[in-house]
Amino acid sequence: MRNFVGHRDLVVVGAGPAGRALAHRAEASGLRVALIDPAPHRRWPATYGSWADELPDWVDPKSFAAQSPQAVVYTPRRRVIDRAYVTFHTGELQRRLPVTAGAVIESRVTQLFEDCVVIDGENRVKAHTIVDARGLRSAKAPAQSAYGVIVDAELAGRYLEAGETVLMDWRGAQPDRPPSFLYAIALGEGRVLLEETCLAGAPALPIGDLRNRLRNRLSRHGIAPADIEDADDEKVWFALRRQSGVPWKDRPLRYGSGGGLMHPATGYSVATSLREAETVVSALVNQQDPRRALWNRRSRAVYRLRDRGLTSLLRLDPIDVIRFFDGFFDLAVADQRAYLSSRDDLAGVARAMTRVVAHTDRAVSYKVMRGAVARR
Ligand SMILES: Cc1cc2nc3c(=O)[nH]c(=O)nc-3n(C[C@H](O)[C@H](O)[C@H](O)COP(=O)(O)OP(=O)(O)OC[C@H]3O[C@@H](n4cnc5c(N)ncnc54)[C@H](O)[C@@H]3O)c2cc1C
Repeated sequence: MRNFVGHRDLVVVGAGPAGRALAHRAEASGLRVALIDPAPHRRWPATYGSWADELPDWVDPKSFAAQSPQAVVYTPRRRVIDRAYVTFHTGELQRRLPVTAGAVIESRVTQLFEDCVVIDGENRVKAHTIVDARGLRSAKAPAQSAYGVIVDAELAGRYLEAGETVLMDWRGAQPDRPPSFLYAIALGEGRVLLEETCLAGAPALPIGDLRNRLRNRLSRHGIAPADIEDADDEKVWFALRRQSGVPWKDRPLRYGSGGGLMHPATGYSVATSLREAETVVSALVNQQDPRRALWNRRSRAVYRLRDRGLTSLLRLDPIDVIRFFDGFFDLAVADQRAYLSSRDDLAGVARAMTRVVAHTDRAVSYKVMRGAVARR
């Protein structure tokens, strides 16, 4: 075994959105970085979206494919959420997180230690800090699944009001079947993604079921299967929580969806991974422990609360899930934001959870509270 190249300040393993953002910000701060991935230049396959106010200032707006000043939910009543939503142009986002060519190593990491990693089973890359950003792989964990088609805006207009970003459309759910909703976002250049989504399931709904549901839903709104036959599609399946352990005990530090930055009840992680890159980098630059910077007492407590939120969600009957979201979107936007987007506003998250229980009917509240105190 030999040392691959000189000593680095930081080695980031995995060049997904989390790893690339971290390596990019670290280089921008003058750290000597290596970013290792077997396919570091592969175009990320997913369509990513986030609330605009979750993003750090340094994210270049040119990486957005579309922005909407509001989002709409149907639970089944229509509510407009006064909060801007962004869809990324995935290729542009990736391009606008540059890492110098010499810092990128095209290899698979086979072992990770706290001061070095082994690549392709033979060479070592040493660093002061190793960060594992290999994503979240957890075959047995609850998952989110979705099936979407990309259509032109004119066709989508048979379903959506002009320019509408729909976060969740629960209309058409049947009481005896696990629910799914439509997620509809503009992708720019006159294209729209229409995606039937199973928010959280153990197991999640199969892609084939979601495909049928999407076709049925769109047919009811005048979009026939033949209209979408040739459309590009997107298949989504990813784990929502780690199998075990808490992220602040990981050695070496994990970052991104696998490092506890994914919201377990929504599946969002990209904006948080972009935002918290500065937290890690600033700790490294100031010779502090990035683990402590990322995981203070409040963010640990919020992590646990949110994890319990997922347990509650998984225990709800199909129709109660929709009632729960009906109550949730009755909350003030500030409360919604605290629950959905804040990592360390413990008081805000607790307040939002208490208020949602108060806003939801009693049977659902009872189940939510039971889930919140239950073991996984
Ligand atoms: C289709 C889809 C749509 C999604 N949409 C959204 C969305 O709109 N908004 C949102 O916030 N989240 C979304 N998510 C969820 C989540 O945020 C994404 O999965 C996101 O890609 C996670 O980023 P990450 O960098 O943590 O991990 P990943 O994107 O999984 O990246 C991990 C990287 O690690 C590399 N790697 C793995 N093993 C090794 C190894 N041994 N050595 C070196 N490198 C390795 C991989 O090649 C990969 O590049 C979506 C997920 C999917 C699947």
